[in-house]
Amino acid sequence: MPEFQPETVARRSLLRKAAGVGAGVVLGGLAGAMVAAPPARAAGMQAGWRYCVRCAGLFWPLGNKGCPAGGPHAAAGWTFQLPIDGYRLPNQPEWRCCMNCNALHYDGYPDPDGRCSTGIEHKRTGVDSNFALPANVGEPAGHQANWRFCLRSGAPDPGCFMLFFDGYPNFKGICPAGPGGHLAVGWNFAIPVYSYAT
Ligand SMILES: [Zn+2]
Ligand SMILES: [Zn+2]
Ligand SMILES: [Zn+2]
Repeated sequence: MPEFQPETVARRSLLRKAAGVGAGVVLGGLAGAMVAAPPARAAGMQAGWRYCVRCAGLFWPLGNKGCPAGGPHAAAGWTFQLPIDGYRLPNQPEWRCCMNCNALHYDGYPDPDGRCSTGIEHKRTGVDSNFALPANVGEPAGHQANWRFCLRSGAPDPGCFMLFFDGYPNFKGICPAGPGGHLAVGWNFAIPVYSYAT
């Protein structure tokens, strides 16, 4: 099974085209949407990110806390791995983990950093990995699409800027920025899958 081959590149701004995307590029070796066994861990990826069935966000389970629905996040389904500092597919960097709510959120604006369930804004972790999410690439093998940026505006607060799964027509999670669940804006992100657990 081919391993993911993320690039290690310097920080770059917004969406870019990775070299080699197109004809002849083999995107992983995973069959459809199911993964029989975890793919080998690749350098430049952080595995272990989970979907929360309560808030619909993507969260880091270590020190799990700060779900917008209250208490800790509740994991189910896929375990995901996030590219760090670039990827072989077109991507958007500047996605970060919040040390207060454990949620992946977009931190590419100068200010603010998005409404956090535990305070006014999200706050980066000390580790401060810069995650680059494949953007507008469809759903390549080994990835799950329909992850979106939330810009639910709850004036005077900013949107929550969280990444959330928008694949369910009738469930948009819980948004810290306002009622009605998360509100998708912008690109459609495809998140690399690491393994599946029931
Ligand atoms: Zn949650
Ligand atoms: Zn937060
Ligand atoms: Zn939201």
